[in-house]
Amino acid sequence: MTRRLLVVGGDAGGMTAAAQARRRATDDDLDVIAFERGRYTSYSACGIPYFVGGIVDEVDDLIARSPEEHRANGIDVRLESEVVAIDIDARTVTARGRESGAETVEPFDDLVIATGATPIRPDLPGIDARGVHGVQHLGDGLDLRADVDATGDGPVVVVGAGYVGLELAEALHDRGRRVTIVEASEQPLDLLDPDMGKLVADGIRGLGIELVTDARVDAFDVDAGGRVRAVVAGDRTFACNLVVLGLGVEPDVALARDAGIRIGPSGGVATDARMATSVAGVWAAGDCVECHHRVSNRPVAIALGTHANKQGRVVGINVTGGDTKFGGVIGTAVTKICAHEAARTGLNESEARDAGFEIATATIESTTRARYFPGSTPVTVKVVAERASGRLLGAQIVGREGAAKRIDVLATAIWNEMTVAEIEQLDLGYAPPFSPVWDPVLVAARKAATQCAIDAASTSGPPRTDDR
Ligand SMILES: Cc1cc2nc3c(=O)[nH]c(=O)nc-3n(C[C@H](O)[C@H](O)[C@H](O)COP(=O)(O)OP(=O)(O)OC[C@H]3O[C@@H](n4cnc5c(N)ncnc54)[C@H](O)[C@@H]3O)c2cc1C
Repeated sequence: MTRRLLVVGGDAGGMTAAAQARRRATDDDLDVIAFERGRYTSYSACGIPYFVGGIVDEVDDLIARSPEEHRANGIDVRLESEVVAIDIDARTVTARGRESGAETVEPFDDLVIATGATPIRPDLPGIDARGVHGVQHLGDGLDLRADVDATGDGPVVVVGAGYVGLELAEALHDRGRRVTIVEASEQPLDLLDPDMGKLVADGIRGLGIELVTDARVDAFDVDAGGRVRAVVAGDRTFACNLVVLGLGVEPDVALARDAGIRIGPSGGVATDARMATSVAGVWAAGDCVECHHRVSNRPVAIALGTHANKQGRVVGINVTGGDTKFGGVIGTAVTKICAHEAARTGLNESEARDAGFEIATATIESTTRARYFPGSTPVTVKVVAERASGRLLGAQIVGREGAAKRIDVLATAIWNEMTVAEIEQLDLGYAPPFSPVWDPVLVAARKAATQCAIDAASTSGPPRTDDR
């Protein structure tokens, strides 16, 4: 008999699972039906800031695989169709047409929950005014770009200085708008330690973008026509005709919770490493799930496309009789605002202490290329290591072009539980256009090794940054 696989959510997690399952099973063995409440499938939300900023011209360029392409591959994609309930006992879902309101009940053998995340939208006066934009899905990106086009050159406010807020601030700055970023904490990118966050703050202010920290938004002032005209934070008012909210997201688990599927302590759907939920035959992937953090050993909900794609693939393999696992996360992320790049992986200082580690830290300044080579720019690398063992626990990088992706070396080292003394020995590539002879990553590891109670003889002495 042909089994039925239903997928809720038509983006990274859901459609990767659907496509993988479709590839592995014949049409006779498996029907794959995907429900998406929006109009798009397999789109790059990550590309929205660059579409808003005009670096990417066409919205179609952000679509990796359209509904028609999925259908041609044998997946029954149902657009503008929202799953509103899951009945575990009956093994059915109820889907509602967004336009018609008509409901259908669909049976399943296996079900994939890939509902993504919900943007945080505090219940503040004026937040529903025209011109106040949350940005989560592709439709939000289209709405925002249209509003940017329509609102001329008036000032704009970005609320929240996480990576989505900063990338959208860059987009609006590139569009020639006067941008103010209002952030409640004392620094932008609060997943960085304060000393590294300060470097990002200095970079942002150097661009001519106003960055207001320690300022919590209380209300949005609205004009007679119902459009936002200012953001109010304490005793300060920031005039604007457009607002972008970048306040973070929470796993969208309402459907799963209502169906009695276990939700984990971090707020995401709990799964095992095979991405199976607490209910047999129900799987989950993407921003809606929580995952295992390999350094803190704690469950975390980290909304990133990298995880959603990998988890979707794991689901697609396992649901068709395979046996594979998602390896967990270590919190690696990169972003940029104009010329300024920032990256992190593993645990920062406070996260490491909170996870019970006794730590040593080292921060170094170096350059992205040999100092004498044209285009060489400063880069700061900070590493956090376990003091007794020297094991690398986390790293952060702030700099300009060519800085951020160096984090991948350190992420690989953390994944493999390497010590800073071992990292110092890594055979990394060198030529003047790419790095100093001692790559900044090696210099940071070397300095951290001197702070740790390990291998003192081979690592003593000041870090060397000499160019050849
Ligand atoms: C502006 C922006 C920039 C980003 N940049 C990066 C980046 O640079 N790097 C990175 O790794 N990540 C980035 N991300 C995060 C990344 O986009 C997400 O982690 C990824 O899209 C998660 O995929 P997902 O499938 O879990 O969820 P989503 O992409 O949110 O997809 C979930 C889908 O499910 C649909 N849905 C939800 N509920 C239902 C329902 N009941 N019925 C039917 N359909 C439903 C939604 O409409 C949505 O299309 C960015 C996100 C944003 C918003």
